[in-house]
Amino acid sequence: MWTCTKCRLSVMFNVADPQLDERGFFFTCLGCGHTNPLARVGPTHSGDDEPLYLAQVVDA
Ligand SMILES: [Zn+2]
Repeated sequence: MWTCTKCRLSVMFNVADPQLDERGFFFTCLGCGHTNPLARVGPTHSGDDEPLYLAQVVDA
């Protein structure tokens, strides 16, 4: 699962509903509405049929 960087709520992958805008992937926290950035990981060059893997971006 992912953890909201603002309120620390744990959000299950299947309810996080990742979205994509001009800044990249993100999910919206169900608890506080905070937008948490995500990064696409893994191979991205083999076509559109590949599974999408997303990892949470953790601010330093
Ligand atoms: Zn939150």
